[in-house]
Amino acid sequence: RPSNAQLMDRRRAAVARGVGQALEVFIDHANNAELWDVEGKRYIDFAGGIAVLNTGHCHAEVVAAVQQQLTQYTHTCFQVVAYEPYVELAEQLNRLAPGNFAKKALLLTSGAEAVENAVKIARAATKRSGIIAFTGGYHGRTMMTLGLTGKVQPYKTGFGPYPAEIFHAQFPNELHGVSIDDAMASVEQIFKNDIEAERVAAFIVEPVQGEGGFYVAPNEFIRRLRELADRHGILLIADEVQTGAGRTGTWFASEQWPVAPDLITTAKSMAGGFPISAVVGRAEVMDAPAPGGLGGTYAGSPVACAAALAVLEVFEKEQLLARSQALGERIKARLKTMAGVVSAIGDVRGLGAMVALELFAVEGGKAQLAKPDADLTKRVVQLAAQRGLVLLSCGTYGNVVRILVPLTASDAIVDEGLDILQASLQAASQ
Ligand code: PMP
Repeated sequence: RPSNAQLMDRRRAAVARGVGQALEVFIDHANNAELWDVEGKRYIDFAGGIAVLNTGHCHAEVVAAVQQQLTQYTHTCFQVVAYEPYVELAEQLNRLAPGNFAKKALLLTSGAEAVENAVKIARAATKRSGIIAFTGGYHGRTMMTLGLTGKVQPYKTGFGPYPAEIFHAQFPNELHGVSIDDAMASVEQIFKNDIEAERVAAFIVEPVQGEGGFYVAPNEFIRRLRELADRHGILLIADEVQTGAGRTGTWFASEQWPVAPDLITTAKSMAGGFPISAVVGRAEVMDAPAPGGLGGTYAGSPVACAAALAVLEVFEKEQLLARSQALGERIKARLKTMAGVVSAIGDVRGLGAMVALELFAVEGGKAQLAKPDADLTKRVVQLAAQRGLVLLSCGTYGNVVRILVPLTASDAIVDEGLDILQASLQAASQ
């Protein structure tokens, strides 16, 4: 069997270098929150394939549902010959989405595609073109979603120009000096400097910024954004590609908002490792595009629909929403204890089981909030990998360690992973 190093050599020769790779490791097999590489080394997985494995690797019921689907049909294209699993998944998403109004759904394949379609739908419904996104936000790698993304390096460099009529307001971030008032004022500045409110179709915001650093959008900010949206006939889109599917303790993070979004985008963990995404929201908004205006050859693949329906059943059976809350509390408590030992930890935060810690340079024994430490963060990730833990960093300043462990992981595995994290933080800080 080839080694990691041999496979890395082949990868470097054959695969475009623009595709990053967090660890120089090739997987052999995986189960729940553990994976084994081609050299037989075991890892605990705190990355979950970037928030895709809330039900763990290869959950037996998800795999069984996919296997059953494979015996019946794998593809027709829903626009050619329809199939029930697509309709059933749409019904389920409509039932789960917050808001006391009728809902409809659209299925697609990737998170970026869901965001693209949410913008198309918002424009068709409002007959307006402007979209306001937020600093530090991440929405995908297609042209529209890169345009919406609020971080240049490494996503946007060299790929422009991006579509017109996209504007960025400030995301509130108390830790880094942006108050809710500042954020709201920056929206008013856009109305003053760039585009009149009457031409703005939608705001798009992540309930918890994912790639941007696990910063939670404060409820007060969302309430004020909704108010402003209602005053000007602007729609509110919640990008729940990373926060959705139970990660934050509710199926959608926006269930915890004081007001409902008009549209929600979701993907990642909704099908436990199979590619599918969705836009769900207000029925009359969703119905704005004319027949033929929405779709895609693979959009809502029956194999992925079967997986997503199984994931929903697993959530019920294993009570994973309650688990998400309990796990979040457990991890947060442990990280707070770590902050007492590791001075570089300047903040611990999260919503449900979407938890992170933020690392800073240390002076006089204290984390300096003006000095985010991306190098230290990189060292922690590398040291953790050596010790058998897959970790991901994120954040505008590259100094956030995020935890996206499967909700199905046992306390023992989670604690083992947190022990490795602490040892790696201590070793990297020396
Ligand atoms: N929106 C958010 C909030 C995301 O976190 C991501 C992926 N990290 C995307 C959109 C894009 O999803 P995908 O990579 O499936 O296109």
